[in-house]
Amino acid sequence: MRWDRPPMLDATVSLPTWVRDAVDFEARYESDDEKMRLAIRLADENVLRKTGGPFGAAVFERGTGQLISVGVNSVVRLNNCTLHAEMVAYQLAQKRIQSYSLGTEGHPAHELFTSCEPCAMCLGATLWSGVQRVVIAASRDDAIAIGFDEGPVFAESYGYLRDRGVDVRHGVLRDEGRAVLQRYQDLGGPVYNG
Ligand SMILES: [Zn+2]
Repeated sequence: MRWDRPPMLDATVSLPTWVRDAVDFEARYESDDEKMRLAIRLADENVLRKTGGPFGAAVFERGTGQLISVGVNSVVRLNNCTLHAEMVAYQLAQKRIQSYSLGTEGHPAHELFTSCEPCAMCLGATLWSGVQRVVIAASRDDAIAIGFDEGPVFAESYGYLRDRGVDVRHGVLRDEGRAVLQRYQDLGGPVYNG
């Protein structure tokens, strides 16, 4: 077989252009519900604008509620299986704070809000990301119900996170997160890993 494309020396993580107008990056968010509403709105917009799968995420500074980064599922748009919403949010947060860890001693702690329970890859990345807290809307079962494969996630996976000091809260605005999944299915969106 002859390659018709040259070898790549980089790969870009980027958000769809609509995010610039849809998100106020200077805003501070007070409550878990308010933070989760942003993650879910991003998931919903991603579906409606057809820029990716029905998943959104955001990273906040824990003490102040300052928004640090957002992510939307970008697997199909950027031809990159690793670009789940959480992965995009982590990568852009670390770029913004110029650190490979969101948990550096002496710096503010961070938390991830995600519209749907993280898959095996994203839970792994959560461990390495340095976040201190993860808040989840729709459940793994909600994602599986529309055909997405969440991979090998076990109760022990969460135990491992807890042992490392990461708090996890499930089911915040679950119905709203699940409604986005349902909308994606209703619109016939592709299931790229099912
Ligand atoms: Zn994932």
